[in-house]
Amino acid sequence: MTIMFLNYEKCALCGEKNEVIMLGSSNTFGGSPDLDTRPAEMLRSTINVWIHICSSCGFCAPDISKRIEKSSELVRTDLYQQQLNSTEFPKLANAFLCYSLIQENAGDYAGAGWSCVHASWVCDDTNSEEAAQKCRKKAIGLFQKAKENSQVIDEEASTAEILIIDLLRRSRQFELALKTCDENLKKNPEKSILDVLKYEKILIKNKDSACHTIEEATKRTKSQSKAGEKA
Ligand SMILES: [Zn+2]
Repeated sequence: MTIMFLNYEKCALCGEKNEVIMLGSSNTFGGSPDLDTRPAEMLRSTINVWIHICSSCGFCAPDISKRIEKSSELVRTDLYQQQLNSTEFPKLANAFLCYSLIQENAGDYAGAGWSCVHASWVCDDTNSEEAAQKCRKKAIGLFQKAKENSQVIDEEASTAEILIIDLLRRSRQFELALKTCDENLKKNPEKSILDVLKYEKILIKNKDSACHTIEEATKRTKSQSKAGEKA
């Protein structure tokens, strides 16, 4: 069961008292995460409460009562306000993209990349394919910047690598996706990672930019090894 509750957050930038919905608890009993780490249901569908928007100044963050470095200047810029009100993306995706701008402005490139990934999931849910691809391309650029600044994208380095490969594949940058996938295959990864990389390679070669799960990758290997046993 997912538990949500109503709360109030006083905006750290303008002082506006906002009614917000908070996530109490959820679960992922619905199955396997996607290749890009998107969780299964029921957590999957709680994405609309992961970010809050101040109704007065437009500050977007998971907790708008906490100030983020240099954010008060940024929310007043045209760049920020244009993103907040962009008709190119769903409203919720704009909130994640605005939060990404705030994180990038504060030097948190890894966090900013993740917010773009979250924005891409919102676009997926509304079948906004072009918008989703734009979010994924932004995420790749930010993760690149994170790497250059020695920031941790994910505690598991291999998860971060698979995420980047998947972002490349899903934004139809197949050539670069294949190159990155091959580079990671050369590192002699452990079995669970190897399965996912091999599956990514098949998807990339098929120019498949759709959403796929980790479970599909492991099932595929299992059925292959069974076939091998019979042979
Ligand atoms: Zn505000």
